[in-house]
Amino acid sequence: MKEIDIPRQRRGIIRHKRRCFGKSRLGMPLEIFGPEKMKNMCLVIAGQHGTEVEGTILISSVLRSISEKSLMCAVMPSINPDGLARGTRCNAAGVDLNRNFPTRDWTEDPVFYSWNNDNPQDTELGSGKYAASEPETEALLNILEDIKPAVIISIHAPMGCIDDPLTSNLSQWISGETGLPLVTDIGYPTPGSFGTWALERGINLITFELPSDSIQNHRRKFTPVLAKILTGGYREFM
Ligand SMILES: [Zn+2]
Repeated sequence: MKEIDIPRQRRGIIRHKRRCFGKSRLGMPLEIFGPEKMKNMCLVIAGQHGTEVEGTILISSVLRSISEKSLMCAVMPSINPDGLARGTRCNAAGVDLNRNFPTRDWTEDPVFYSWNNDNPQDTELGSGKYAASEPETEALLNILEDIKPAVIISIHAPMGCIDDPLTSNLSQWISGETGLPLVTDIGYPTPGSFGTWALERGINLITFELPSDSIQNHRRKFTPVLAKILTGGYREFM
């Protein structure tokens, strides 16, 4: 593929410019990769839920396939490194980071998720003592203030859809390229979510929900579209 220009033999490590924009609750660095000047670009973020490791591995793989000069996005492969290390959806304080944003509907009520796809949502997590109580949320909000992304793509799993309440040209294109249905709502309430936070501020946030599949299949299916986005192809649809 033309846009993937690092040979496979050299894709072992991430070689892009790195910035550390904060620390997790357990002191892990929160990293962003991208060009020196990141303002007004597309921001791609993954790993808000530590158990959705496929998103982190997929975006890291695409990042490692692209040369420094062709990267035209800001990329955060893992915004919840403690959850990733511990194998939990939440951060180290038991907070679902995607319910910790300062939105009009943020609530301190507990949040629940499904243990497995066929279980009801009954496993309990917190939403934080107050909105943006968690260092991961605070650091993300601070860097967003700085880089002011033109659009945000947040990778999750395993719903298998493209969620965009604004149905922007970009989300329509991603849906067409991936074959994943475009939806405007995930089907259950998500108070304090990153998506709601963005919507309240008029920022286009597209949630890229990977389907349930192996990492190998995710790489095969989704590398072309993500490589096109990371090398600046998203601009055609803005
Ligand atoms: Zn998720």
